[in-house]
Amino acid sequence: MKNKITIIGGGLAGWAAASIFSENGYLVDIFDKKNQNFGSQQISPNGWSALTNLIDIKKIKPFFNPFNKILIKYMDINQRVELLCNFNVDNEDINYGSIERESIIKLLKDNALKNNSIKIYNSYIKHIIPDNGTNKIIDDNENIFESKSIVGADSINGISRKFVIGSGGKSKNKKVFRGISFNNSSYQLARNSLQLIITFNGHFVIYPTIINKKNATNYIFVPTDDRFFPPIIHNKILSYLIPNDIEWKMTFSATISEQNNVIHKNGVFLIGDAGTSMPPHTAQAGNQILEDAVFIKKSLQEKNNFNQMVNMFIKQRYLKNNIIAKKSAVVGKILSAQKLIGTLRNLSLKSYGNDFVESILNPIWTSNVNK
Ligand SMILES: Cc1cc2nc3c(=O)[nH]c(=O)nc-3n(C[C@H](O)[C@H](O)[C@H](O)COP(=O)(O)OP(=O)(O)OC[C@H]3O[C@@H](n4cnc5c(N)ncnc54)[C@H](O)[C@@H]3O)c2cc1C
Repeated sequence: MKNKITIIGGGLAGWAAASIFSENGYLVDIFDKKNQNFGSQQISPNGWSALTNLIDIKKIKPFFNPFNKILIKYMDINQRVELLCNFNVDNEDINYGSIERESIIKLLKDNALKNNSIKIYNSYIKHIIPDNGTNKIIDDNENIFESKSIVGADSINGISRKFVIGSGGKSKNKKVFRGISFNNSSYQLARNSLQLIITFNGHFVIYPTIINKKNATNYIFVPTDDRFFPPIIHNKILSYLIPNDIEWKMTFSATISEQNNVIHKNGVFLIGDAGTSMPPHTAQAGNQILEDAVFIKKSLQEKNNFNQMVNMFIKQRYLKNNIIAKKSAVVGKILSAQKLIGTLRNLSLKSYGNDFVESILNPIWTSNVNK
């Protein structure tokens, strides 16, 4: 008889899990109702190599928009812009760029569905109830299912995280604004680079991408305080890069204070945002989900069962996610510094910016973060 798992959540983590479990002989039930993926995300070299381990590289390439540099700039209150650092990533061994979130999920989903062992339920799980060594799960159509092995991929405020961590697992979220523009001048100005523009009330992250086969520019604005909004751009030249008609969507991101060390209880194993609260500042949450998937895939290929795989993950992999989450929180603090510390940050970035970016990103990008 085939092994069976239940996946709660059909986002990046859920479909990455569906893909690897179905490839390794599992019957998979996956529950989700309204995945709302929006915009693009950065794929760093570690994420790229993980992704190419999960999906045929030829299928990924048409969706991938590479970058060859990271520019860090400072915009003062009068909207004068100064370049602080120009970090070159133009190396043919490095794949760094962006991919539309919906495309990456579709690629994983197509890969999973190839195996004919997936059952998709268009419903939300409302309850998980432990019952004699197994779990009863109840969806919002009042259907009751039974599952011994559950992958909780329903993000930071999902039912799985509540089940594993308890009510203390409720996450405090931070506001992050996200937007897309199909404006050609913005795309031309954003082309081939990731630009980080630090301002007096938050920072922009701007990069080119491909949305629905069209060239686009992806915008993120991380306010230093939840009361702040993306500033209106008065500087004429800058307004070509950051047009004032961007429709900003308010999204939420995890904060480090919500970190926990429990990701497994009664056969419910948390992955993705449900498992690790990762602040967005090193753009690693999604990349680490892909690395996690490769880890799980390898463990299943080595013929470990679900519980053995979970134990291996907790011992060998989870620490890394926590280290990156902490690093991301530190980067966020540096980027949001104001006044004297902000001035010192700018001076340091002008003198040692390349060394700084390299010291943060290199260990993560080469998957050597434990060092
Ligand atoms: C716009 C944006 C840009 C980002 N940029 C980057 C980046 O540049 N680099 C990077 O590495 N990461 C980035 N991230 C983070 C990364 O995309 C996320 O970490 C990743 O998508 C999380 O995947 P997930 O599957 O854990 O959660 P989600 O994608 O949130 O999926 C969770 C799913 O669970 C479903 N669900 C919730 N509750 C239930 C329930 N009770 N029953 C059934 N289903 C349920 C939801 O409908 C949802 O579909 C970005 C995130 C966003 C939002």
